[in-house]
Amino acid sequence: MDKQELCPICGEGHVTDHVDQVESEYKGQKKLLPLHYRLCDVCHSDFAGTKESKLNKRGVMAFRKSVDGLLTGTEICALRDKYKLTQSQAAKLFGGGPVAFSKYENDDVAQSESMDKLLRLVRRSESAFWELVEECGMASEFSKEKVIATASISSNVVLMENYRADQQRSPSTVTFRPYGQEGAKRWK
Ligand SMILES: [Zn+2]
Repeated sequence: MDKQELCPICGEGHVTDHVDQVESEYKGQKKLLPLHYRLCDVCHSDFAGTKESKLNKRGVMAFRKSVDGLLTGTEICALRDKYKLTQSQAAKLFGGGPVAFSKYENDDVAQSESMDKLLRLVRRSESAFWELVEECGMASEFSKEKVIATASISSNVVLMENYRADQQRSPSTVTFRPYGQEGAKRWK
């Protein structure tokens, strides 16, 4: 499809996508970063359109984040996934505005140092996550079962943590009761 596109510079040639590796330097550190551009087969102009400029900027931003010791977009995405948060829930919890997480995760914008510290704290500590949920008054939006239960646990296994939580909530509706007479008596 790109081959059909006319060159915006000469209006005669057709443009194709290219990627080169170009050395970039930030705070004394160097790295080869992909440079996306388009090339015309007639006038041989090379240029970056909106799409290419965006990709190039993201590459540079990701590199700068890693030099600055900030979580990468991919790491932030994984953190959100760990707690099954939508981007807007994450923004409510951590701050930054409604589209903040889309920007962090695409490496369009670098999160602040304080944001980064909060994210790392929650990534490390599940109890920090739950305290933050509490602090933001979002407890009703989350259930621990939903977060803790992972795909790796088969459906016929009930986590004891969930089991105990169910017990406390309403023993009469618990489906997994202890076996044996003693158990039956306790549940009466
Ligand atoms: Zn051209």
